[in-house]
Amino acid sequence: MGYAPLRCPRCGEITLWKKSDSSYKGFSVGKAIVGSSIFGPLGASAGALGKRKSRYRCGKCGYSEEFDG
Ligand SMILES: [Zn+2]
Repeated sequence: MGYAPLRCPRCGEITLWKKSDSSYKGFSVGKAIVGSSIFGPLGASAGALGKRKSRYRCGKCGYSEEFDG
């Protein structure tokens, strides 16, 4: 895992390989829930405020993945 590539890792599409902000919220909430179940309240805040991730999605082949930043 690292920063997002400039093109789809699966099919090489550039123009349709875009950041998808719609799923970012769900990811944060899920992370907070996982954090709280393992580390308690402290883990919940760490999960919500921790490392930022961005989901990218390819409009051509449908591939999606989360990257740092
Ligand atoms: Zn693709």
